[in-house]
Amino acid sequence: MYKDTVDFIKKQFPGQNPIPLHEPRFIGNEKKYLAECIDSTYVSSVGKYVDEFEKRLADYTGAKYAVACVNGTAALHVAMLSAGVKQSDMVITQPLSFIATCNAIAYIGATHLFIDVDMDTLGLSPDKLKQYLHENAEKKSNGFTYHKKTGQKISACVPMHTFGHPCRIDELQTICAAYNIILIEDAAESIGSFYKNKHTGTFGLMGTFSFNGNKTITCGGGGAIITNNEELAKRIKHLTTQAKVPHRWDFIHDEIGYNYRMPNLNAALMCAQLEQLNSFLENKRELAKLYQDFFQEKGIKFMNEPVNSKSNYWLCSISLPDKNTRDEFLKHTNDNGVMTRPVWVLMNKLEMFKEALCGNLDNALMLQDSLVNIPSSVRSSG
Ligand SMILES: *Cc1c(COP(=O)(O)O)cnc(C)c1O
Repeated sequence: MYKDTVDFIKKQFPGQNPIPLHEPRFIGNEKKYLAECIDSTYVSSVGKYVDEFEKRLADYTGAKYAVACVNGTAALHVAMLSAGVKQSDMVITQPLSFIATCNAIAYIGATHLFIDVDMDTLGLSPDKLKQYLHENAEKKSNGFTYHKKTGQKISACVPMHTFGHPCRIDELQTICAAYNIILIEDAAESIGSFYKNKHTGTFGLMGTFSFNGNKTITCGGGGAIITNNEELAKRIKHLTTQAKVPHRWDFIHDEIGYNYRMPNLNAALMCAQLEQLNSFLENKRELAKLYQDFFQEKGIKFMNEPVNSKSNYWLCSISLPDKNTRDEFLKHTNDNGVMTRPVWVLMNKLEMFKEALCGNLDNALMLQDSLVNIPSSVRSSG
């Protein structure tokens, strides 16, 4: 069975050895736009591509505003800052995520609260969240929700659209609204993914993206925040540009800001990559379909896009019956030139977050031992 799988994957990526998990494709206007930046000398934080990229990203996602920044982690950090999350607060997130989500919460100094994921979406579970809040939180007369045990305000909830599969974000939206908890979507992995025909990242007060080298589209390092709130968009831009008050020559900064603005060089790459996003998505969906049919025949569970969703299939994944089988699969594929990876170690198991409060995490625990990501790059030719 493992040999068949290795052969099948090799057939999809002919001539590559080893086959990476996800590599970028620069087959559009990348070099042209980069050359324009260099010739114009506008390579840094000022330049037409930054504004152009923000405009195009807002258009693509249907958000009113997009603000570019240096990477997805910075985007999450500044999203929470601008939402007013405080050091004394608790922030809900899922244990099955990349470290960046939790690190950004830690930069604020806030406390993590881990709620389980759903088995089909791999994202934060609305049912588990609802039950946890019902049992462990209370909404006070000031309108905010507090944790019964620690007395901390639960100010924000940051679900993540795992591997590009949208979570049940409209239900999370309803629950967060009822408890007056700010919803910020970590859409780092889900550019091009839609839930009920709306782009991921547009359900919360804000959504954040990453354009790191391993993501669906990339500019080396980059990120962005989208929102429909004009005040917030202005504040995010202010915070990401050292909180400098606009003036023809004076250097006035009215609060502690951050050097989080995306450089023009990276924005030029993003403009070129966005132009190719739809063709990349098509290519990735074809691959997902091939994988789905192949694994179905083998009796192995391929993680399909959840209901009501259109997934970007950033990283394709399969679910193996148990940890031993998974480890054998990982060994055989990696020994034979096919890069595969297990899912992240759950965040609540890491040294820094092991004291954090958790709900019941049965699903995340099960997925941790069974999920494997398989090569998912856009294929160069048919
Ligand atoms: C990639 C990623 C980020 C952000 O990563 P950067 O490398 O800082 O751009 C954040 N959250 C998740 C879930 C990610 O996968």
